[in-house]
Amino acid sequence: MDTYRHKGLRKKLVQLLEEKGITDKKVLKAIETIPRHLFINDTALHQFAYEDTAFPIGSGQTISQPYTVAFQTQTLAIQPRDKVLEIGTGSGYQTAVLLELGAKVFSIERQKALFDKTKMFLPKLGYNAKLFYGDGYLGLPSFAPFNKIIVTAGAPYVPENLLNQLAIGGIMIIPVDNDDYQIMKKIVKIDASNFETTDLGSFKFVPLLKEKGKD
Ligand code: SAH
Repeated sequence: MDTYRHKGLRKKLVQLLEEKGITDKKVLKAIETIPRHLFINDTALHQFAYEDTAFPIGSGQTISQPYTVAFQTQTLAIQPRDKVLEIGTGSGYQTAVLLELGAKVFSIERQKALFDKTKMFLPKLGYNAKLFYGDGYLGLPSFAPFNKIIVTAGAPYVPENLLNQLAIGGIMIIPVDNDDYQIMKKIVKIDASNFETTDLGSFKFVPLLKEKGKD
């Protein structure tokens, strides 16, 4: 259940994100709207749901830190009706933020238990995305090109398939491994073979894993 107390905590979280440098009003509005506590299974953690931290969501995975979600989303400069590919559906929280911004969202998750749970859960909140159980390294060639691609797990390298599935002029945001943290990279596709990459600082993510189903 969403309560006035939760709404109040969300306002505070939004203020904190503004202090940390998030300026996109639509992103802040989405975070103020979405009941993040409902995306966290463990009700003992609900009282902390509006702190700016990541939390466990089962299967050894986490719901990303709100600042990270806001930062990645802001960098994508989502326009209504953008076709967005998300790698790592997880709790579906980032998916919900993209939907609030009017994007058409395609999201891939490799953990069957998380995929099943989120597929049931998101529509209950009125969020409709195209969810796929599969391997994010492959992307979704049959639905490409995408205006925006967001990777929500730390990747050892930038998957070639994802670069290919980005539309010309499209933006990808991806955290790429550098020892025990990741460098956030913004990649703009200039034309079929030219990309402009900008490093946007260090972040901490769970790893983007290979070989679906093997843990
Ligand atoms: N966007 C999520 C973040 C979840 S953490 C949220 O807001 O909750 C990253 C997710 O990526 C995990 O759920 C993990 O299972 C998933 N993942 C890891 N490797 C993957 C791969 N190769 N393909 C698809 N998803 C993957």
